[in-house]
Amino acid sequence: MDNISSNISSVKDSDFFGLHFDNSFSELPDKFYSKVNPTPVESPKLFAFNNLLARQIGIDFLDTDSGIKAQIFSGNILPQGSDPLSTVYAGHQFGGYVPQLGDGRAILIGEVVGQDGQRWDIQLKGAGLTPYSRAGDGRSALGPVIREYILSEAMNALGIKTTRALAAVTTGQNVVRESKKPGGIFTRVALSHIRVGTFEYFSNKRDMKSVTTLADYTIKRLYPECLDADNKYISFYKSVLKSQADLVAKWMSLGFIHGVMNTDNMSISGETIDYGPCAFLDEYNPRKVFSSIDYQGRYAYGNQGEIAQWNLARLGQALLPLIHENQDKAVSIIEEALTEFGHFFEDKWLKLMLLKIGIQDQQESDSKLLGQLLNLMQKNGVDFTLCFRLLSDVIDLNAEPLDHLCEFGNLFGAESEIHEWVKKFNNRLANSGNSTENIVDLMNSVNPKYIPRNHIVEEVIKQAENNDDYTLFNEFLNILQNPFEEQIGYDGYAKKPSPDQLVKQTFCGT
Ligand code: AMP
Ligand code: MG
Repeated sequence: MDNISSNISSVKDSDFFGLHFDNSFSELPDKFYSKVNPTPVESPKLFAFNNLLARQIGIDFLDTDSGIKAQIFSGNILPQGSDPLSTVYAGHQFGGYVPQLGDGRAILIGEVVGQDGQRWDIQLKGAGLTPYSRAGDGRSALGPVIREYILSEAMNALGIKTTRALAAVTTGQNVVRESKKPGGIFTRVALSHIRVGTFEYFSNKRDMKSVTTLADYTIKRLYPECLDADNKYISFYKSVLKSQADLVAKWMSLGFIHGVMNTDNMSISGETIDYGPCAFLDEYNPRKVFSSIDYQGRYAYGNQGEIAQWNLARLGQALLPLIHENQDKAVSIIEEALTEFGHFFEDKWLKLMLLKIGIQDQQESDSKLLGQLLNLMQKNGVDFTLCFRLLSDVIDLNAEPLDHLCEFGNLFGAESEIHEWVKKFNNRLANSGNSTENIVDLMNSVNPKYIPRNHIVEEVIKQAENNDDYTLFNEFLNILQNPFEEQIGYDGYAKKPSPDQLVKQTFCGT
């Protein structure tokens, strides 16, 4: 370790990393965080670095060798201007309130501002103990680091707002989980790391001064357009609701299950955050749960809209005194906004789901048509992603009775009802006045061919853990960059899992 410490001090004074920090969260009162440095690791090795993202957020690492990058993105060396801290927050976990959580294994090293003026947090996850580590070790295993890297970059390519992956290293040290596992550190980039739980933390302490400070900071940073509103806090609250409705509807239209939608895992920025037991659906089933600890199915695929609403009610509670001086009036404003959230979410979800079946000119009977398909999918355990992707193969606007339904029909086995449904589907599309070509293009632009399938992610992790081999990681990551395009020779990545490959449970990233 002596070596590492001297390394830190020898480079700390120079500013040659293309990282120009411009920190704002650390300017908030010190109740919002604890200043803490990463704990150095023995022999960090960089196995992934996202050059495109680096450019986007205005940092330049092209000429920096991977050894130096490994030192920086393990926290072994701190570039000039970094001001490392862990943030404090609380949260409702599985419905129960925990008054203090906080970054137990994550350290914000600083903020950067891209050329477009966008501010970004750069955070090391797995960088060592913090005052919020509780019984944890402050570290991450390599598996969850790989998982978050793949999932978050895939989500971004699918057009879903998400925290991003900038870098990933192995530490050269083991962590103890169910067994000894190789350790890793993940560099997460986000519009901010302020969570619903950050507001709850102060509000539950009755520290309204801090809630106001936090709200003002958040509005200025994430929702500056609210500053012009009559009541900026109401406007802010409604904006957060809208961004969450958009986000969760989008998740569901792509078959994504977050897995632990605790209020501490819901970002005020509207980015998907905290890739723990998350996964994409294989077979369609609204009750599907992956998380090994979600015994009640609270965070099942089909519950996500309602749970988002529940979490946002907690945010409303925290903001109550800011919304209106009369508490009854404040409550009714929050309730109205939450009802609006419900409608907005439903509308958005339906709109996205109808696009998946080629419908842009929404009519009243369309939700029934969609519902019939979803029922048949559930009844027959049909793979969600394949079903929508292959659906465009059976478009026939002349509505000729189809004697075979190609691969699409095979998904439903011997099910004959799907023939009836396809007939109705074609009749409906024929009414839209759109050409087959346009409809197919539309459907292929919203129905991905490639998603981060659980069984492949597991295989990638296995190869990295057991053989230190990142070939599959790199290839998969590359394919997932263009999820809507056919990529010749890579059909294997689009296949559903065989029964023995099926992943039934996923675990929190601890
Ligand atoms: P999560 O389930 O990942 O959202 O984590 C819930 C809480 O546990 C957060 O406060 C995390 O910072 C903390 N936590 C998770 N894993 C660890 C760990 N290995 N060491 C310390 N704290 C952790
Ligand atoms: Mg979390």
